Amino acid sequence: MASKPPASPVELNKLRLDDARALLGRDSALALPAEVESATEYLQSVIDGLCELSLKDPLTGLANRRQFRTVLDRTIDMVARSGDPALLLMLDIDHFKKVNDTHGHQAGDKVLQTVAATLLKCVRPMDTVARYGGEEFAIVLPNCHAYFGGTIAERIRQTIQDMAIDIAPGLEISITISIGGAYAPEWVRSTAALWTERADVQLYRAKSEGRNRVFLDTQQEIFVSAEEKNMLFGHLALGDPAWIEGIAGETPGGNAVQRVN
Ligand code: GH3
Ligand code: MG
Ligand code: MG
Repeated sequence: MASKPPASPVELNKLRLDDARALLGRDSALALPAEVESATEYLQSVIDGLCELSLKDPLTGLANRRQFRTVLDRTIDMVARSGDPALLLMLDIDHFKKVNDTHGHQAGDKVLQTVAATLLKCVRPMDTVARYGGEEFAIVLPNCHAYFGGTIAERIRQTIQDMAIDIAPGLEISITISIGGAYAPEWVRSTAALWTERADVQLYRAKSEGRNRVFLDTQQEIFVSAEEKNMLFGHLALGDPAWIEGIAGETPGGNAVQRVN
């Protein structure tokens, strides 16, 4: 996601349905922008521009929540097929409200843009950095081994802590970020919601234990829920719920999770 898509010469907010109809009908009366050679090229740039709008966060240029979800689903598929480990990091800027309250919303926006650009520099081109919500970010790292994930997350935390953010002429501030992470369970088809929840639990830990820290759900701590086991084995049960229940390993408290060893 780190690569920048080609800029579209089309101003999408000025696009009219009649223009699109004329293009489809190859209406020669349509005035194309000077820099566009043909109606086909024009249409392609419209499509590229619309894709860009629908997948990117306008403030930071990062993947938006929709694109993040697509990448998460794709990565879950990949992990289930290949068994290659994948890490999801959830990141939240610490005390960001204070930045807005003290320096104004525009300064807050500048901080978000700087953090976004920095996160992109900290990861590989194959990783996806997304703006998850207001001052929350998410990073999907496919093919990331357990011994490496902690180092990457810690490097991100340190880099954010060390950088000076230029919010106005002669005014620099620094911020910190809390990070929670979880690995997708290997060989099991998880869900985007379960994986995100695991990373969120770790982010919550990082916040509650003082902020500006990293907590990861390591491979050995991964729990496989009844829902995940059902997705893996459910089709073999042929309608016998007792079989699935046995596999899912209901705990005495009714909490249908089990540690994978
Ligand atoms: P914590 O350390 O617990 O995460 O505290 P926090 O202040 O970072 O979290 P809180 O949820 O209290 O505040 C988040 C703030 O982020 C509030 C909201 O106004 C601000 N925010 C959300 N989106 C944007 C944005 O696009 N631009 C700016 N400037 N601020 C934003
Ligand atoms: Mg938040
Ligand atoms: Mg915050």
